Amino acid sequence: MATINPGFATELKKYGALDFNKCYNCGNCTAVCSLSTGDNSFPREMIRFSVLGLEREIQKSTTPWLCYYCGECSATCPQQTDPGELMMSLRRYLTSKYDWTGLGAKLYTSKLWEFGTIAFLALVVLFLFVFFHGPMTNELTADGGVMLNTFAPWQQIEIGDLLMGGFLAFFLMSNIFNMYLKIIGSQKDLKIPFKLYFSEFWKLIVHFGTQREFSKCDTKLEQKKPALNTYWVVHWFLMSSYVIMFVMIVAFLGWFQTDNIYAWFHPQRILGYYATVGLTIGIVYFFVQRIKKSAQKSKHSHVTDWTFLVLLFLTTISGILVHVFRLNGMPQPTYYMYVFHLMALVPMLMIEVPFSKWSHLAYRPFAIYFNKIIVAAKKSK
Ligand code: SF4
Ligand code: SF4
Repeated sequence: MATINPGFATELKKYGALDFNKCYNCGNCTAVCSLSTGDNSFPREMIRFSVLGLEREIQKSTTPWLCYYCGECSATCPQQTDPGELMMSLRRYLTSKYDWTGLGAKLYTSKLWEFGTIAFLALVVLFLFVFFHGPMTNELTADGGVMLNTFAPWQQIEIGDLLMGGFLAFFLMSNIFNMYLKIIGSQKDLKIPFKLYFSEFWKLIVHFGTQREFSKCDTKLEQKKPALNTYWVVHWFLMSSYVIMFVMIVAFLGWFQTDNIYAWFHPQRILGYYATVGLTIGIVYFFVQRIKKSAQKSKHSHVTDWTFLVLLFLTTISGILVHVFRLNGMPQPTYYMYVFHLMALVPMLMIEVPFSKWSHLAYRPFAIYFNKIIVAAKKSK
């Protein structure tokens, strides 16, 4: 029997939902949505569930993740209910429910927790550098660069990186397992053949790598063909840059953080520049979108949207400055900027990857994967 949470609307507003109770169930939003299908009809159903407080039905659904927030439904809703923003707030809400530690919910609903946790992690990094840094030498390498590895030996930083990588992997994977229990585990009356987990697996990889549903977003009303839309391209460029940088600093720091200055075409520099350009373009684009508020999807920003962008901006700009100072033989600015860089990077990864904004890059393809399994199992009955 369905259980009703009468306080659900109030709770959901903390995650950014607007006045969705005004919905009179006309179905226009579902009709205009380019991604809504017979198998997965949305967003109207999610709005009804939210209005009625059917919390468990929402938690076992994948449809909030099938929406890419083009904003068409919000632009055409006769009640100005903003269903696109409701779907966005449901994704934040689900992110906090998949997180079994409860920290995700605190970070999403309390500025004190959000800013307090960032400050705490930044201070831990500062503390470690104040007491454990290496010599701050003014001597330069034969290339005229700064000896960064004397001040911050990559072998020691790598230990911290691997510990952090293990922390992130443990919490993200256990949260995904919790998501699996809520979605697939709730399909009590559906027998799911085991082979579907394998036959559908490639879709998880494809959707993580391409986010191709983005290109179909926003095409129904104007009867456009799926195309390269700017939002998708910039988002993909940002995501691929983020992933490249993450892999280089967590898994290959010894190769990435060298005191040698390689030629500009060395793979280390090419990958570094690709990631830097991708991050910079993405950050500027999303900052401008959120400040201008001209597109429907950028009209409302939750505090966590800004926190992620600001931390990413600080990490990127400080990383660029470390590179510039190091190459130009400026030891003291390099050392101080390196510490600041890690004070922004560590909270950004520790908070955003398993508990907050970044996790949607994992939850969305997993939701699509689980959804494909359920749809295929229903069809094979
Ligand atoms: S959200 Fe708006 S468009 Fe969708 S069913 Fe409700 S009133 Fe209609
Ligand atoms: S924001 Fe776009 S993709 Fe999401 S429900 Fe509305 S119309 Fe569909």
